[in-house]
Amino acid sequence: RTRLVAELVSDVTAASTAPAAPHGPQQDVRAWVASVAELTQPDEIVWCDGSAEEKQRLIDQMLAAGTLVRLDEEKRPGSYLARSDPDDVARVESRTFICSEREEDAGPTNNWVAPAAMRAELEDVFAGSMRGRTMYVVPFSMGPVGGPISQVGIEITDSPYVVVSLHVMTRVSDEVLRLIDAGQEWVPALHSVGAPLADGATDVPWPCNETKYIVHFPESREIWSYGSGYGGNALLGKKCFALRIASAMARDDGWLAEHMLLIRITSPEQRQYHLAAAFPSACGKTNLAMLQPTIPGWKVETLGDDIVWMRPGPDGTLRAINPEAGFFGVAPGTGVDTNPTAVATFDRDTIFTNVALTDDGDVWWEGLTPEPPAHLIDWRGNDWTPDSGTPAAHPNSRFTVAAAQCPTIADTWEDPAGVPVDAIVFGGRRATNVPLVAQSFGWEHGVFMGATISSERTAAAEGALGELRRDPFAMLPFCGYNMADHWAHWLEVGAGVDESRRPRIFQVNWFRKGDDGRFLWPGFGENSRVVEWIVRQVEAGRGLRDDASVASPVGKLPAPGALDLDGIDVSDDDLAALFEVPTEPWLAEADLTEEFFAQFGDHTPAELRAQLDALRERLAGS
Ligand code: GDP
Ligand code: PGA
Ligand code: MN
Repeated sequence: RTRLVAELVSDVTAASTAPAAPHGPQQDVRAWVASVAELTQPDEIVWCDGSAEEKQRLIDQMLAAGTLVRLDEEKRPGSYLARSDPDDVARVESRTFICSEREEDAGPTNNWVAPAAMRAELEDVFAGSMRGRTMYVVPFSMGPVGGPISQVGIEITDSPYVVVSLHVMTRVSDEVLRLIDAGQEWVPALHSVGAPLADGATDVPWPCNETKYIVHFPESREIWSYGSGYGGNALLGKKCFALRIASAMARDDGWLAEHMLLIRITSPEQRQYHLAAAFPSACGKTNLAMLQPTIPGWKVETLGDDIVWMRPGPDGTLRAINPEAGFFGVAPGTGVDTNPTAVATFDRDTIFTNVALTDDGDVWWEGLTPEPPAHLIDWRGNDWTPDSGTPAAHPNSRFTVAAAQCPTIADTWEDPAGVPVDAIVFGGRRATNVPLVAQSFGWEHGVFMGATISSERTAAAEGALGELRRDPFAMLPFCGYNMADHWAHWLEVGAGVDESRRPRIFQVNWFRKGDDGRFLWPGFGENSRVVEWIVRQVEAGRGLRDDASVASPVGKLPAPGALDLDGIDVSDDDLAALFEVPTEPWLAEADLTEEFFAQFGDHTPAELRAQLDALRERLAGS
């Protein structure tokens, strides 16, 4: 399996099939690998097969290199802590590029550079970037291997942390190479930490480069990532492929690649429904994916927590899969009180990144337990006590764990045909204005809701925390083409799904605050009350019960008494505040929406402009 660069390169020269790098997706895998080796100059090449032995070998190597710390075998079996470079802790949106031939096709919300110019730049930065390192070739499938909604790719990386993480987050398998041989299209995804090692130099635990590039060529379906080892920047199957490249594929082929969680809900009547929800990073996807209902008779099971691919199915429904195989979840705020399912999921065989280490060899972060331990080693590797005045875990620290370990995983989560989606939910983090839940008046209004979502910034990417920004479809950092074309695509896909089975669209906001700055809604397990209302509204749409809503300017709100509040402590004032739709601020938001739409020129669909007019009319009449 291990082959020398020289041997590979000579193979290719002999066959003389190697065009100048970089290559498009139809290229022969070996020719691509050889050309990358020629460019990046690794010491050796290892072809990965996804086996348990391979994973263990790489883990042992990282333990020796200090990249990983082994956690206590009793407390956290098979688990490890990685501490990143303190400057490599989140996605870098300012260094993320969509390099389509035409700038207009990337749209105003993406960074764009002409492909030829970017290729020239990348050839320079990648030249010799793997010197002194091993280059791993990792064939992976997004979605069950060979499934009708699945896609495959090959990631080349010089980071063993990335290989081991890919083992968890994707399906790494030899079988992928056989599918490619049989003619399946594949996505070449090249990653380097950008830290060549001089002869005899000792490595650092987390090599990376100050200069970073996260580059996508949506037309030739290629990814080039340089300088970072962080999940969203380096595990290229995730945001780069399953969202940015896949969204471009989906636009061309009539499906949807979305930043969504996916759950199965069973009602007390034993009816099953599937809900997909898009929230920006660190706004509650993983938590809702693992929801434990507090209301009797309801059951929620997990299918996915971050990405959903949906395709109109042969039966007239919209069929969804989770293309991932694991969870890369935000640690802080995850505890037995908020997300006991996640806590049970990562009780073993988990990689933790940038959390704190306890004196007895376990992990800790803010929110895992109500009281911090008296002493910790913080995420930077320094001594920490509750008086330190800094967070013990980085706010974007993460757990990486196989989905199969989740106690609430649905038995259908790997069904290659996917599950039928009944409800689609958009959300964000909004202290004001946006009600706890609202149902759209129809598909077009639902697309308008998704297109106009704004949310306060979180620690999941660099940028000012708390700043309000538009995040349409929670896809602002993840849409691989013009965002307004994405809205048009949604309108088109919806029109192609049978009206009786078309998902109903909702908007939620768990994060509304009172004047005193506290959250008005208890959230977490109590969100099951909102889920219940959503399901009942889906049933109403199918004639199974009466509609239990009242119209407001921004959508249908639960009718008085329709939201089950039994056994929770939400005062009447707070409840009123949770559903208040204040006219003046909403008119101001409508003005901002007009400016926002104007950014996209004629790409903004006329249907959405009409929805804005209709919103203004409803506000004027309210
Ligand atoms: P994801 O990145 O979208 O998957 O977000 P997570 O589910 O990991 O949640 C991100 C942060 O939001 C965590 O700190 C959670 O504790 C917090 N969070 C999630 N759901 C709720 C909720 O219903 N209410 C409140 N107040 N916080 C929540
Ligand atoms: P998430 O994405 O924050 O939506 O979980 C992970 C990432 O930042 O790459
Ligand atoms: Mn998440």
